[in-house]
This record gives sequence, C-alpha cells and structure tokens, in this order.
Amino acid sequence: MWVRKRLDIGWGDLAWAAGRCLVPDLDGGASRRTETAWSPDGDALFCLSVRSGFDLLLTALDLPRGSEVLMSAITVPGMVRVAEAHGLVPVPVDLDPESAAADPASLARALSPASRLLVAAHLFGARPPLDPLLEALAASEHGRGLMVVEDCAQAWTPGYRGDARAAVSMFSFGLIKTATALGGALLAVRRPDLAERMRAAAERWPPQRRRVVFAKTAKAAAFKALSARPPYALITGLAAAAGRDHDLLVNRLAKGFPGPGFLERIRHRPASPLAALAARRLGRYDPGRLARRAAAGAALAAALPPPVSRPGRAAPHATYWVFPVLSDDPERTRRALARAGFDATRGDSLIVVEPPAGRPELEPVRARDLLLRTVYAPLYPELPRSALERMAAALAADASAAGAPAADPPRTAAVPPAEA
Ligand SMILES: *Cc1c(COP(=O)(O)O)cnc(C)c1O
Repeated sequence: MWVRKRLDIGWGDLAWAAGRCLVPDLDGGASRRTETAWSPDGDALFCLSVRSGFDLLLTALDLPRGSEVLMSAITVPGMVRVAEAHGLVPVPVDLDPESAAADPASLARALSPASRLLVAAHLFGARPPLDPLLEALAASEHGRGLMVVEDCAQAWTPGYRGDARAAVSMFSFGLIKTATALGGALLAVRRPDLAERMRAAAERWPPQRRRVVFAKTAKAAAFKALSARPPYALITGLAAAAGRDHDLLVNRLAKGFPGPGFLERIRHRPASPLAALAARRLGRYDPGRLARRAAAGAALAAALPPPVSRPGRAAPHATYWVFPVLSDDPERTRRALARAGFDATRGDSLIVVEPPAGRPELEPVRARDLLLRTVYAPLYPELPRSALERMAAALAADASAAGAPAADPPRTAAVPPAEA
C-alpha cells in the first residue's frame, strides 16, 4: 500500500533535530538567523506556525470588533478560529475551481464597508497570480487600499518569498508541508511598523519547550518508518481486520496542535531547535526533489482521461503538494484506489469558511462542492512511474465505471449542497 503522504524530510535532518534538542542552548538568536537566512531584506519573522503568525498580525493590526476578514473559501480551521478570537468576522470568497484561487467576481460581491483584510490562500501547491484579485479590489469602493495577506502555507518553493504587493506573505514548515521543519513558519512582513508590533506581541508569549520539539521529532520518525509500503500495508490491513478505518487516526496524527486549548498552544515563541532546523532545511533543500514531485504530478495529470477533473488544474507553478481529484462519489473513488494499492484520503484538514449570519448569498457554493467531492491521491517523488500509471488507470476505470463523468463544479447553483 502506498501511503497517502510521505513526510518531506530525511533521516539525517531528524537525527540532527533530535541532537539539537539535547544540547544546551547557549544563545537565543536562532530565530533571527533563520529570518536573515531566508530574507536578507530584514522583513522576515519566524513564528511557531502560520496560525501563530496570523494571530500576531491581528494583534498588531488591532482592528475594531466586527471588522470583516475576507478569506479564500477553503482554508484550515485554525485560520478562521484565529480571526474569530480577535472579534473579527470571516467572510468567504468563493473559489474558481479551475485555478482553486479566490474568484475576483466573488470577491467583489463579498466586499462591504466593514472589509479590512483579504487573506488569499494558494491551495494544493500551485501559485495562481494575485493580479485578478488586486484588480477586483482596485475596482471597488470598499476594496481600494484593502490590506492583502497571502497564505502560502501550501506553496513554498526554494527562494520564493511571496508577492511584494501583499502586506504579508506566510509560509508554513508544518509536519506535512513541503520542506517541513516539524513546525514553524516564515512571514514576510513588508511594513516595518507592523513587523515591529508583531515582534513585540511575540515577546509576550512563552517559549516553546525543547521537549515539545523532541516529541515532534520522534513522532515524525515513527511516521516515516511506518510509511514504507510493507509496514503501511500491515497497518491498514490490521485496521480493516478489526473493522476500523485507519483514515481518521492517520489524519489526526498529522495535526500540529491537536486537542483542546488551541489558542494557548499556538501562542508560543519557537524553541531554538525548531528555528535552527528550519534554517537548515532552507539552506540545504534539494530543488531536484520538488522538481521530481512536480514531474510526477504532471505525469499523473497527463495520464488521466478527460472525465477525471482536478481542482486547480489551470493554476500555474504547480508543484503538486497534494494531488486532488474530483469524484461524483469520493468514497467509492477512495475505495477503488485502495484496492489498487493507493491510500487516498478525503482529507479532513481543510474546511469551508461559512458565510456570516444574515448573508446567505455569500454561501461559497463552488468551494463547498469542490471540498465535498475531492479525493487526495498519494503523490510524492518516491512514487515510480509504474505506480503513477497504475494509479491513473485505477482513477480512469473508477470514473468510467461511474457512468456519469465527474463534471466540473457548477459555476452557479441555486441550492447549496447539504452539509456532509
Ligand atoms: C497548513 C496551512 C495553514 C497553517 O499552517 P501552520 O503553519 O500549520 O499554522 C494555513 N493555511 C493553509 C492553507 C494551510 O494549508
């Protein structure tokens, strides 16, 4: 069984990180070194996570309660929770399924006199341009001059630091992200006054404990050891024999801040081993690895017959952080892939941003449909060409057996699909 995801980190980095947790820390400058290594411009801020950095940003901005934060309609739940914790109102901007980017027309509709911020997420490892969104903002009375924040958590590539027209660009090094450092995030904060206030807010947070980083290292090592094909086949087989689905368990393992007390957990300064590991990853990342992943994704995409549709298929700079496919019956597609030896998942880490009370017309119909119908196929550089071919064949057979081709999401729909 090919595991759904292989962590993007080697044994050498894990051993090094464990070692850093064991030696005493003599200077506290690891975060600063990571920041300057990433951005010589001095605009970088290293945080515990993107969600922590977003929390710092909202603290620094200190927007009036009830201010509206426009967000790409699909994101991780923590981003919405952080906005709500600051008394702000998240407002979804529906997605264009072709690019998986926020759609400019939906943005124009979502703008209101209370709009203060746009958080544009680049999903699935592609990087659609911000231009259509910036043009929609410039064309609108409520959009002109609106602050734009870029969520590049899924879109890191070596050397890229975001679109300079965004006030802030955020990159994640969480466990399942590209070039993972087992956590941590780098933010390019292009307004020095804002960066200063964010730093001051971070200073008030307690430090992350080094043993937390050590535990993350151990967890990643276990995950990595069990992701090889034979042990993973054994795990899924045992779970099935016990009448259990391994899906939930595996997805839970991938969460960075599981359990209660989410806000307290994200509100820490990164421990120095975490910052040092991030710097090491940035400095030594093999661009060939990303190129191999992108090539595998492009090969799989090219091998799929037309009835198989993919969200974000038209987005440029695709590195295929994940490989989502749309299905009219995602559970059936997931089982078909499992029979062929591929551990696809329907995923549970992304959510649809709900429209604010009293504004049902902002229901993000296309984003919700997209998320309900998405199955994530395994995709990583270790997958050989023969496995990609078998996966393409399994997806094609599933789509044609379904009879009705998996059509693209509706451009407009009168009735929002029911909650799954
Ligand atoms: C992973 C992710 C985040 C959160 O990143 P953390 O560093 O884990 O907080 C935010 N937005 C998107 C779109 C993500 O995929």
